Amino acid sequence: MSTLVVNGKVVTATAVLESDILIEDGRIAAIAENIGRESVARDEIIDASGCYVMPGGVDVHTHCNLQVGSEKVSDGFYHASLAAAHGGTTSIVEHPGFGPEGCDLNYQVDLYRREASGEMLVDYGFHGVLQHVDEKTPAAIQDLMDQGISSAKVYLTYAGRLDDEEIIRVLKACHAAGTLTAFHAENHAIISSLTASLRKTARLSDPGNHPRSRPDYAEAEAVGRLIALARAAGNVPIYIVHLSTAAGLEVVRAARKEGFPVHVETCPQYLCLTESCYEEREDGRGLQYIMAPPLRREEDCEALWEGLADGSIDVVATDHCSFSFAQKYKRGKEDIFAAPGGIPGIETRIPILFSEGVLKNRIDLNRFVQLVATTPARIMGLPGKGEIAVGNDADLLILNPETKQTISAATLHQHVDYSPFAGMTVTGWPATVLLRGEILLCDGEVSAPAGTGRFISRTATIPT
Ligand SMILES: [Zn+2]
Repeated sequence: MSTLVVNGKVVTATAVLESDILIEDGRIAAIAENIGRESVARDEIIDASGCYVMPGGVDVHTHCNLQVGSEKVSDGFYHASLAAAHGGTTSIVEHPGFGPEGCDLNYQVDLYRREASGEMLVDYGFHGVLQHVDEKTPAAIQDLMDQGISSAKVYLTYAGRLDDEEIIRVLKACHAAGTLTAFHAENHAIISSLTASLRKTARLSDPGNHPRSRPDYAEAEAVGRLIALARAAGNVPIYIVHLSTAAGLEVVRAARKEGFPVHVETCPQYLCLTESCYEEREDGRGLQYIMAPPLRREEDCEALWEGLADGSIDVVATDHCSFSFAQKYKRGKEDIFAAPGGIPGIETRIPILFSEGVLKNRIDLNRFVQLVATTPARIMGLPGKGEIAVGNDADLLILNPETKQTISAATLHQHVDYSPFAGMTVTGWPATVLLRGEILLCDGEVSAPAGTGRFISRTATIPT
């Protein structure tokens, strides 16, 4: 079975080519000018005139299936992956939430694998989540690696956080297994102390208290400490999820200048939205933006754009987490600190980064491809993903750079009652998306059945 993609501009991490792409058995078989049309049947030719042909997006930070206490996100694996497909993303790596206290490392991964089975429309992997450390942890990390789960996340805040000594033990064990450790970097003591003070003095229905409780220096301190701990563990690579501040970025830059292997991710919300979203409103809509870390100032957004352009930030992911506005309002209207945190973004990541980044000349086409596909696939060890190259999976995003759409929850496919980006007019949307050579999205429709997406057995992450 072959397919030929013709007339598009092929964008890889390093080049823009006027080439055709021949797909055979789900993989890219050739990239060249004027590949003979006779090699495929007429109905197996995809005309990409006027479009960019890019690698399918790789979103390495999602929470499609998160449950916190009695609240579960409103989409789940099927709807989140449907939204991913509509947004040009063909692979995700899901972060499981914390499991029951004391559970072993496999517990959440096993649960999530069962729940994702038969549901997914895009290919998927999982990160481990380290919520305690004991003598069994190194073997458990190796066991995950043997199952194709080559990264694990540590939180510096929340109930499942680890302390500094535990983090050093984890870093050593992950490095020995070829696993990358990913960190939610916010200082827990700063957040809990400020939250306790605000609880006494502030009006708890005001979402403006959310960023006040999680200042930029809480992030910068945590990033700096992690770098120091990773040095002590033997200069091992670390990955910082959802970096949100100029202050945190400065710490990263200084460390990278010294050659320290710290890899960094940010998300569209930290590039395009600011803390003005938390303004108190009659309708309670400020609660929509409760997420951690919180939205920041305009200057932080600008600094993060610079970080994307100059290479200090490696990846744009989403932290997609679809607690609905209804859920946030029910729990948070009297007490914003009780609202479930997280925002949906899996469907809008690529269009927003293209429109705000490429079309506004903040990043070029190759950098765009690196940020949304190639580098996340490489850092997180997704074999055959994230780049248009012979032998790779034919996961392709055919993006029409002229399609204009104003974002609205009503026209998106995310199963959630709002979009934090509603009202933004975005230019450049997926026209056609292929997953392993099969059409996933065409003319705005996904016709592939649930279960089309396969588990990705990931390999050792980049050796640095
Ligand atoms: Zn997250």
